[in-house]
Amino acid sequence: MSTGSLLVISGFSGAGKGTVIKKLLEEYDDYALSISATTRHPREGEVDGSSYFFMDREKFETMIGNDEFLEHAEYVGNYYGTPKKYVVDKLEAGINVILEIETVGALNVKKTYPAAKLIFILPPSAAELENRLKGRGTEDDATIAKRLSKAYKECDAVEAYEYIVINDSVEATAKTINMIAAEDSQTVEKTRKENNLDLIKDIKKGLEVYYKGE
Ligand code: 5GP
Repeated sequence: MSTGSLLVISGFSGAGKGTVIKKLLEEYDDYALSISATTRHPREGEVDGSSYFFMDREKFETMIGNDEFLEHAEYVGNYYGTPKKYVVDKLEAGINVILEIETVGALNVKKTYPAAKLIFILPPSAAELENRLKGRGTEDDATIAKRLSKAYKECDAVEAYEYIVINDSVEATAKTINMIAAEDSQTVEKTRKENNLDLIKDIKKGLEVYYKGE
């Protein structure tokens, strides 16, 4: 049996990563989502062991000491990490594993696991990202402005990814990611970062007006 693919999926807040990943898990067999550990407090509705494994810093640091993480990073004052055992077991069983993590962690995964496929999900345009964030209706204008400013900063990290996928429809995006996992040559060619540099540039230009310099 061949091993599964390790898919590292990142994207700006509001780019629709969560919905696309949910679709992928629903539509296709042989995918599993890694559940991260974190020291941040649960948000309303989050469930321990399914949203995250919530823990204090002491427990997290013990796990670091025991080499139990595939990668870990500090993000806005909290630790986040990918427990190694689950990922390794699934991959060995031929299951594709999805990591939804931020950019520093993604690059670390690539160092320890070079076969990992780094995928960045982009919105069709900067204006569309703003629409989606506003359409969620869950955050105030100041928070949305912060997320857009952060997205501008994150544009530089996008170039470290191998595959760029535009999320214009949830179904099509999930399908594209499945084809990347299967190493379909046409899909790989279309989504390769090198073939999408202009697009990254356009999005960055569109986001520039939101940048607050932090
Ligand atoms: P949130 O607190 O909003 O759930 O997540 C904050 C950021 O941490 C998101 O960009 C999310 O993708 C990232 N993240 C979640 N789990 C992990 C992880 O295990 N490792 C790393 N490096 N980042 C993570």
